[in-house]
Amino acid sequence: MSRLATTGEIFQLIRSGEAVTRADIGRVTGLSRPAVALRIAALRDRGLIVEDAEGPSTGGRPPLRLRFDAAGGVVPVASLGATRTQIAICDLAGEVLLRTDLDIDVEEGPDVVLPLLMDTWEKLLDGQAPAVGIGLGVPATVEFAAGRTESARVMASWTGVVIPPIIAERFPVPVLVDNDVNVIAMGEHRVVYASELDDLLFVKVSTRIGAGVISGGGILRGALGAAGEIGHIPVMDGGGVLCRCGNLDCLDSVASGTAILRDLRATGREVLSLADVTALVRAGDAETMAVVRQAGRRLGQVISGAVNLLNPAVVVLGGDVAEMFQPLVSGVREVIYQRSTQLATRSLRIERSHLGPGAGITGCALMVLDHVLSAEAVDAATS
Ligand SMILES: [Zn+2]
Repeated sequence: MSRLATTGEIFQLIRSGEAVTRADIGRVTGLSRPAVALRIAALRDRGLIVEDAEGPSTGGRPPLRLRFDAAGGVVPVASLGATRTQIAICDLAGEVLLRTDLDIDVEEGPDVVLPLLMDTWEKLLDGQAPAVGIGLGVPATVEFAAGRTESARVMASWTGVVIPPIIAERFPVPVLVDNDVNVIAMGEHRVVYASELDDLLFVKVSTRIGAGVISGGGILRGALGAAGEIGHIPVMDGGGVLCRCGNLDCLDSVASGTAILRDLRATGREVLSLADVTALVRAGDAETMAVVRQAGRRLGQVISGAVNLLNPAVVVLGGDVAEMFQPLVSGVREVIYQRSTQLATRSLRIERSHLGPGAGITGCALMVLDHVLSAEAVDAATS
């Protein structure tokens, strides 16, 4: 490392555990003792690290150890769903400290939903360390850099809304907004898979279908943030179902939870919710298994294209419909192994989400922490 290692770079060494004493930092960076002291003081002043005596004393002064202080700040986060929103306060390691779920109809629009969110954060923040950044996952396409929601047909009242400045007016910290499936994919990858693989495709199948792509360890957002919108890729032999986007046989219209409910009702099954469908799958109802498996095959058509394009190491299925994993995944597998290339499927794993519904808030916290704890951001904050 350069002799001019910055405060932010030193923070990364401490956070990762590569350096645990001032002597370590001097050795790794080549900085003089006073230069190290100056940078350590800046990090301590910002509450980012603590230095305390730990371990057995060998008779002289006990060794002072530096460690990242995950309690030095908090990250308020929320994962908005169509009807249910998870709200949480996380520490600087991304661990959930407090969590509450609210039933909010996202279609009520930003004027209703955002104030409710901010009120809830304010209550939860009482007595906590200062907020360092805020993260939000929304069920819409998001132009990531601007935090602008774009999806006109799904969250009509949110179209074109630039969320960060609205929140920053009340909470003057960095505010990051992304598509809900992107943050879920990120949470699942970091917590479950990061140590073994860098390429993951997360497919969320709930009332709607979306995907988040982790490529080379990072989220693949595309030019503006619209990557992963697989719900509106058409399938073959869909039967001519009109999608809410105006096209025919989009994956969303033939394989989502909404489509499964519709198809089951057409067979005379009295299913009110996806929980009813899950119960029928668990009971081994043949008709239900067939409908879910067919949805899986259609999902497989689109996922096989994504597998050919992206070559992920694992495809993770999440969302409410993933509760029906067995018939769903057998339909998906059937088609993927027919259609994807041999090399792409040679060691391909298809698994069910490990984190489940909690992945969204974890992903939101990690998105914010990557941003506010980066070497550049720490340099800016301590200079
Ligand atoms: Zn569509």
